[in-house]
Amino acid sequence: MEILPFGQIHLDFHTSPLIGGIAEDFDAEKFAKTLKETQVNSVTVFAKCHHGMSYYPTKVGVMHPHLKSDLLGEMIQACHRERIRVPVYISVVWDEDAARKHNDWVQVNKEGKLAERPPLGSIRWRSLCLASPYVSYLEEQTKEILENYEVDGLFFDTVRQIRPGCICNYCLDSMEKLNLDPKNDGDLRRHSLRIEREFMEEMNKLVRTISPQISIFYNSRLRILPSPEMGIRPEVDFFSHFGIESLPSDLWGYTHFSYFGRYYRTLGKEILGMTGRFHENCRWKPHPLWVGRMSQSLGRFWLLKKQVRFRIRVFSSPFLWSKVLHRRSTSPQRRIGDFRLQENSRGLCLREREGEVV
Ligand SMILES: [Zn+2]
Repeated sequence: MEILPFGQIHLDFHTSPLIGGIAEDFDAEKFAKTLKETQVNSVTVFAKCHHGMSYYPTKVGVMHPHLKSDLLGEMIQACHRERIRVPVYISVVWDEDAARKHNDWVQVNKEGKLAERPPLGSIRWRSLCLASPYVSYLEEQTKEILENYEVDGLFFDTVRQIRPGCICNYCLDSMEKLNLDPKNDGDLRRHSLRIEREFMEEMNKLVRTISPQISIFYNSRLRILPSPEMGIRPEVDFFSHFGIESLPSDLWGYTHFSYFGRYYRTLGKEILGMTGRFHENCRWKPHPLWVGRMSQSLGRFWLLKKQVRFRIRVFSSPFLWSKVLHRRSTSPQRRIGDFRLQENSRGLCLREREGEVV
């Protein structure tokens, strides 16, 4: 099992090419020292953002037009001097520059519209298709980063096809070969999942060829579904750990982290809680999606209540109770909240007590 550092920062930094003076006053030494002084021992820095802009001199992608330095390289070197771990952020399906230049790489929804931004809309990002040649472009960018920088991990953001599925020409060709019907929502969902998993499998192969030991995380994949096939379990091996992005005041709501944390810690990987808030989305008034999440949570609570009632009915038989109690007494002890701090080469981290399952 991977041992994650305890104090981690995730920089979510997306800068339009229209914004000037990028990193003009940036002082990498001060940046790293500030992190060190505040006990941060890992920081995820950005290589490519949702705008499709790279923050280093690139031969494959597009460097931000108003960046005059190797910002990525400076951040990595300065942090490593302070013994701070540095995973690198790469935006996956959101790359506005690539979407603008290659219309045919953008996912198409069932209504025939480019996903996920409305025609002539300015809010939201267009989503690139993981069945299109965009994947080769992204692989070349990843290769370039791994070959030129000493990165400690990769954070691939927004790894997902639209639901039920994309009907771009690449997807239609692929579905035809697989004998799947694009008019059928079930087939579209199965195809989306297949495309996403193939992407992660290929990306893992590429990354492991160059950097066998670094951490790999694919964001936007974590979900809790009743179906073993459609859920996360068949994908677990693609992840070195799970990062649970959960921003309470935004889309996620205040109950998201607790039940995701409880579920994901059963999958045999370390988990990392990613919380905070987006500067523009942290208004006090409830976000419509937040209200949606809250309703989802209440729905889950209602289901849970029904399940508990059902179990009370089933387990009211003395015979069943004796079986349940017997099984309990022979199972490993389960305790919650029993942690200890452990120091390793990368700093302090929080560990569960050995031999105890939490
Ligand atoms: Zn497609």
